[in-house]
Amino acid sequence: MTGTQIAWRKNQKGFSRRELVYELGAWSYASCLSYLATATIILDVESDVKLLMVCNALCYGCGIAARNAGRPTIAVGQLLLIIAPISSALMASGSLALIFLGITAALLFPALFSICINVFENLRRSIVAAETSKQLADRMQVLARTDVLTSLSNRAGLDHQLTSLFTDLQPGNKLALLWIDLDRFKEVNDTLGHPVGDQVLREVAARLREQAPRNAVLSRFGGDEFIVAAEMRSLLECEELGGRIMEDINRPFRNKQERLDVGCSMGIAMYPDDCGDIDTLMQSADLALYHAKVSGRRQASFFTEAMNRDLVKRREIEMELRGAIQRDELSVFYQPIVDLKTGRIRTFEALVRWFHPEKGELRPDEFIPIAEETGLIITLGNWITAQAARACASWPEDITVAVNLSPLQIKANGSALGILTAIQQARLDPRRLELEVTEGLFIDDSEVAGKFIEELSSYGVRFALDDFGTGYSSLGYINKFPFKKIKLDRSFVSGENAGVKSEAILRAVASMGTTLDLDIVAEGLETEEQIKSVRSAGCTLGQGYYYSRAVPDYIATLLLKRNRDDNQKQRAQA
Ligand code: C2E
Ligand code: CA
Ligand code: CA
Repeated sequence: MTGTQIAWRKNQKGFSRRELVYELGAWSYASCLSYLATATIILDVESDVKLLMVCNALCYGCGIAARNAGRPTIAVGQLLLIIAPISSALMASGSLALIFLGITAALLFPALFSICINVFENLRRSIVAAETSKQLADRMQVLARTDVLTSLSNRAGLDHQLTSLFTDLQPGNKLALLWIDLDRFKEVNDTLGHPVGDQVLREVAARLREQAPRNAVLSRFGGDEFIVAAEMRSLLECEELGGRIMEDINRPFRNKQERLDVGCSMGIAMYPDDCGDIDTLMQSADLALYHAKVSGRRQASFFTEAMNRDLVKRREIEMELRGAIQRDELSVFYQPIVDLKTGRIRTFEALVRWFHPEKGELRPDEFIPIAEETGLIITLGNWITAQAARACASWPEDITVAVNLSPLQIKANGSALGILTAIQQARLDPRRLELEVTEGLFIDDSEVAGKFIEELSSYGVRFALDDFGTGYSSLGYINKFPFKKIKLDRSFVSGENAGVKSEAILRAVASMGTTLDLDIVAEGLETEEQIKSVRSAGCTLGQGYYYSRAVPDYIATLLLKRNRDDNQKQRAQA
């Protein structure tokens, strides 16, 4: 028996003892009143006293029956104890008037008994009704706070439970909030259907229940977002919990015979270390989650103050970016991609630049992700493509231009049409436009990406797979989509990890390129040694500061002219 049950039993025992004392007291008092009145009748005292005593007893009996109707044993008992002796004495008095009075007094009992029982029944019914509606209200409240699919708390439930967790926090302890977002849920849901998606969500909930401490609050916060909040003694305890959850959710799920790799990202914040209340705790964990996602997913990030500063900066950039195109602060620069054998420029990659009047030059890495988040990338991307197409149209016909496309741009309605319009308006042959896409495009929604690539390829637009080697590096995409070029990320050439291993990868990718008749571009070439090394590994094209940084279109035109002249001279010498 639990402590609460024992306390309840004790309470009940005390209550029945008090009730018995109360009953005995009430009955004794009623008996006293009645016997006094009866005595005045039997002893034939003065009629005034007799009248007053009998009236007093009977009035008390009637009144108390009404007052105690909720406890019929007391009420009926008191009534009987008052009426019975008085009416018996009256009927035995011998006087006709008193006998008649005795009979009417006796008749009071059934009348009051029935009133009393009626009142009691009505009271009982309304109490039962009140209790039932309270139970119903409690049940409704539980339902309103529960997510039907996973039986975890929903948003409303989370708010409620977090407040309790917060107020009950032991001094010296911390409140950890882990915000989990599934990385590839949308893909599973879209390709395998909602029932499989639901199954994955239920399985995630089960894994969370298994890993989280018993007192933790578990919630499904949005479609594929979950929150675990728990009281922790230390940062270490929180790290261990985060690690366990990441490991468990990153384990593949099973759908019949199929293995589903969903994976998750996690943002973690702690009270009081990172914030002063629940709202900022949530915001901090959300920011940490954002950070985990942009740094490559399948990661857990702890909140840091720098993330707040980042957020302020991001908001500023977001506001200013909206007007940057109109204010003419953006430019497209061009970086040559060179044939590694002949040294001839074959393509210019269009790279956007923002010359901010106060902040100076902003790199695309600082504002492209913000443009993607806010949807501005669609307008911005169309503008970049239009600029690039126009610049390329002014170059010799064997020169192509490469434009970077972000996944969001491709998924927007009418994206293919936007690109076709840009090349048409610039009067550029579609075969002179190359679109650089990254693997991220296929991970989120490969069907839409497939249609986009198919449609534009049918007009002659070419596609290059950018930053190869940094993500999943799945050969499946190369096989499935008509890529003409693979761009090996610069980390294989000039990054700190460049070495024997990356050279082996370079060789393997280059030999695949030869077999499949694909151009392999080595990015980030800064020195002659690097050029020699990628050339001997089998790469066909190169790009990097060694040849040129990205430059404005008129300088690109000059570069091109000089490159052609140098090339002709070399050929003449040879
Ligand atoms: P990316 O497509 O991989 O572009 C190559 C980046 O490497 C460029 O940086 C370029 O300036 C830099 N780079 C080229 N050669 C070298 C080198 O020898 N050494 C080093 N250390 N870096 C070199 P940038 O212009 O800052 O662009 C960064 C990224 O921003 C691009 O990576 C691309 O993903 C994105 N981006 C740039 N322009 C656009 C755009 O117009 N649209 C979209 N959607 N994304 C863009
Ligand atoms: Ca690129
Ligand atoms: Ca790249």
